[in-house]
Amino acid sequence: MTGFQRRTIGGPGAPTLTVHEVGDADLPLVVVLGGVHGDEPEGMLVARSLVARPPTLRGVRLRVVTVANPSAYDAGTRVSAIDQANLARSFPGDGRGSWTERLAHLLTTEVLAGADVLIDVHSAGLHFAMPLLAGALSTGPLGARALDVGRALGLPFLWHHPEIAPGRTLSAAETLGVAPIYIEMPGGPTADMEIVGRVRRGLDAYLGGSSAPAGLTREVEGSGDLDQEVLRSHADGLFLPGVRAGDLVGAGTSIGQILDPLEPSAAPVDVTAPVSGHIMMLRRTARVPLGTALASFGVPAA
Ligand SMILES: [Zn+2]
Repeated sequence: MTGFQRRTIGGPGAPTLTVHEVGDADLPLVVVLGGVHGDEPEGMLVARSLVARPPTLRGVRLRVVTVANPSAYDAGTRVSAIDQANLARSFPGDGRGSWTERLAHLLTTEVLAGADVLIDVHSAGLHFAMPLLAGALSTGPLGARALDVGRALGLPFLWHHPEIAPGRTLSAAETLGVAPIYIEMPGGPTADMEIVGRVRRGLDAYLGGSSAPAGLTREVEGSGDLDQEVLRSHADGLFLPGVRAGDLVGAGTSIGQILDPLEPSAAPVDVTAPVSGHIMMLRRTARVPLGTALASFGVPAA
């Protein structure tokens, strides 16, 4: 097999992206995206490793964008530095819209269109923690294919989503008939190369058609829409979690407390789980203004 071919898409006067491709043009196309969020180094490192050390491919070809939002990467931020927009809420985009909408349009039309599988690689970032997981559409024929890919990766959690919220890479993929999968890594200030390596081994197994690494232990279900289906702080202060990402908690049990340092005599406010399930996202940064997202939950899949 020859190595990756590199090309630039987009521009001039518009967003540009570097795309890396390898494999026989007749074969089903798998797209791997890193860097949709510019402050999530782990996904960019996974994508980079695929190009730097090409995997063995069996029955598929591969298209990799290592940095899907170069403006956000330059600034080291979640959103585009140019217009402060979240690329992951801008799909399918608009070729005549804002910079980020044009970037989403470029990715939709030039990277996702014609693909068979999308694997969008993220991590929980600075403010949150997540267990190592794959998430996938779980309904319809596209969902069945997406869950198969998710299982083939062999990551500890597989999160089933009956539907995909709009604006995402995954929603654009679903509309195009591309099986939509994403990966989330635990996050934090320093990229965890052991986790990056584990995701790489999962991708190698899937792309190479070998059996999944033993690692998938829990399949859970939920919307996965962290804008909506999330437990928010009902007090202003400092959040002290009493659980870890991935833990199984019962409905009504405490997952932490919020303490107000401005009112030392006020009692700590208990934060309780609204449902029984696994903690799929947990606030890492202590300062939580009222309404801050604290946690989200995945219930065991039927
Ligand atoms: Zn992300």
